[in-house]
Amino acid sequence: MPFLKTRLLAVLIAPLLGLLSPPLLSAEEVNLYSARKEKLIKTLLDRFTAETGIQVNLVTGKADALLKRLASEGKNSPADLLITTDAGRLHRAKSARVTQGFGSPILDAVIPASFRDPEGHWYGLSLRARPIMYVNGRVDPGQLSTYEALAEPAWKKRICIRSSGNIYNQSLVASMIASDGTEATEAWARGLVENFARPPRGGDRDQIKAAAAGLCDIAIANTYYLAGMLQSKDAGQREAAGKLAVFWPNQQGRGTHVNVSGVALTGSARHKQNAIRLVEFLVSKESQQWYARVNGEYPVRRDVPVFDILRAWGDFKMDTVNLSRLGELNPQALRLMDRAGWK
Ligand code: FE
Repeated sequence: MPFLKTRLLAVLIAPLLGLLSPPLLSAEEVNLYSARKEKLIKTLLDRFTAETGIQVNLVTGKADALLKRLASEGKNSPADLLITTDAGRLHRAKSARVTQGFGSPILDAVIPASFRDPEGHWYGLSLRARPIMYVNGRVDPGQLSTYEALAEPAWKKRICIRSSGNIYNQSLVASMIASDGTEATEAWARGLVENFARPPRGGDRDQIKAAAAGLCDIAIANTYYLAGMLQSKDAGQREAAGKLAVFWPNQQGRGTHVNVSGVALTGSARHKQNAIRLVEFLVSKESQQWYARVNGEYPVRRDVPVFDILRAWGDFKMDTVNLSRLGELNPQALRLMDRAGWK
């Protein structure tokens, strides 16, 4: 009798369970490998889940480690999407054949062509500008004009910039090759190295700190580092950042160099539709505002306002060279920097 009773209960309850838990049973999910830190994206992923019922399984790590992992997992990779904080690595993922093309009318409408792969393997999610920063009072901004002009003798031993091993600098140099050619860019790089205040060391933030401390008058760094320091809880960081101003180079020509944080669809994606929905969600106006603000970056779409700290630096013209071109030129940029003695 007890056995029968239990069975009866099970028979009665089973359809009810089925009704209550279709999202669980159909396992609506999307798997994301992210080189962007969890705290810089998690809130958006939770909102996406609340809105769509699609669970996002997040794996974070260093970009190169995630790329290696994707390559070794191959077709068996559980990942659907890969987020990185520069187009160079998205291009490397594409070259390593671990991505596939995708698209949607929404993505094509809101993401400018220069900030997505021409074959739709990746899309930019936010923009990161790499202007010239100068120390107030030690540099007259009237003396500044272009990246190219930083190689002039007037800047001897006055410039701080990180190493050539860093992809941000590789992309900057690639953008100069695209604009000025290899020969001119190599001559420029030699001149720039002459003007280094010290052998490259540290990250972008360290260049800003070195300039503030008087080791150099000019730092090349991405703007979100300056924005982050200006909002820091650490008074020393706020004070250091407050000594610098932003100069937008190449405004009469191609514009200031920008890169993207972006997302690629993996070749092995098993939740393609969910993945595309997530990417569309990430470029919605609301998401863009949050994402750009938290990361101290510029929204990838033009119809979303930038937040106050960035607005204070003014509007600027961006270089619109397609970032996939910079990916293609990356190996050339690396060799060139090496020849020029850029450590
Ligand atoms: Fe960075």
